[in-house]
Amino acid sequence: MIPYGRQEISSQDIAAVERVLKSDFLTQGPVVPRFEHAVRSKVCADHAVAATSATTALHLACKALGLGQGDVLWTSPNTFVASANCALYCGADIDFVDIDERTFNMCPNKLREKLETAHAENRVPKIVMPVHFAGQSCDMEKIFDLSQEFGFSIIEDASHAIGGKYKGDPIGNCRYSDITVFSFHPVKIITTGEGGMAVTNKVHLAEKMALLRSHGITRDKCCLSNCNEGAWYYEQVDLGFNYRMTEMQGALGLSQIVNLEEFVNKRHVLADSYYNLLQHLPLTLPFQDADNYSSFHLFPVQIKSDRVAKSRKDVYAELQERKIGVNVHYIPVHTQPHFRDLGFFAGQFPNSEKYYANALSIPLFHHMTEEQQKTVCEALGDALA
Ligand SMILES: *Cc1c(COP(=O)(O)O)cnc(C)c1O
Repeated sequence: MIPYGRQEISSQDIAAVERVLKSDFLTQGPVVPRFEHAVRSKVCADHAVAATSATTALHLACKALGLGQGDVLWTSPNTFVASANCALYCGADIDFVDIDERTFNMCPNKLREKLETAHAENRVPKIVMPVHFAGQSCDMEKIFDLSQEFGFSIIEDASHAIGGKYKGDPIGNCRYSDITVFSFHPVKIITTGEGGMAVTNKVHLAEKMALLRSHGITRDKCCLSNCNEGAWYYEQVDLGFNYRMTEMQGALGLSQIVNLEEFVNKRHVLADSYYNLLQHLPLTLPFQDADNYSSFHLFPVQIKSDRVAKSRKDVYAELQERKIGVNVHYIPVHTQPHFRDLGFFAGQFPNSEKYYANALSIPLFHHMTEEQQKTVCEALGDALA
């Protein structure tokens, strides 16, 4: 099987995890802060808070920005369900902004239209969460300008996008957002097994996320109501969670991030080959904005259904049969039963639905060989013929 994504684990990675296993700390030790420092240095952000996953980091980010009952968060329908669920965890309402037909990212024009309506009805969202689909940044400058005009916070779901750039700057520098979240799930650019991280330039948000990550408990003398109790003393000052990253995860991440540029470069080499090898097939290849440097987490193609007799379902099945691990990103979140139960329905966000109907993510991973790419392209050519 040629998988659609796969982690790259070196002997250095294994040695780094082994060293931690033989050390005094398996959790809350010295390595996770070093990993946090390495990530925030790479992406040029001031603060970083590691968590057990991007899902829990998104939850912490929403909480830190005060999202709660009666509030609304807007995200893209073309994303993994976690981008929407974090709002529901907070007791807030969720809504979606349809995607741009070329980039498959949240469309700034549609965002403006929806904000104007929401403003007139006095229900502007508290948070807007653009998702950098496949590793290509959303148009953050435009979304930021709208946040200034209408008054909302921004969390970038950059689960796909560590190592990518927007207008020459690293995704994660938070120039146009309050918080940016990365995922280190094994199919993403770098991995910690499970794991995620929130970065921000706002110290109060970083402190809040760090507090909530660990039960809402503090030992910081200046935050205690009673500071004469003794050195063992701590206080729970908020309702937090246990979302702490382990030292094993931190060590793996710290070892992986050294290779970030190499990983992303290799993905560009593979993507360039795909653009080359696939140009004559009846496919729409992923559009790359000149302002952006994608991390190429995914290579999502669309079958030109007017030129292909077979359905996407049949093409998918045929490729799977030939041991090509294709995938589909994403089933529009609002069409999931849980979201239909909340009142959403098919037809509501037509661009995301139209994109989904013919979308296919083809294999892309670090150690993919030229041979494997040719196999994928031949199989795809046969399946589309
Ligand atoms: C993978 C992913 C997540 C969740 O990441 P985890 O680390 O698995 O929790 C959230 N949003 C998007 C867009 C993702 O691709």
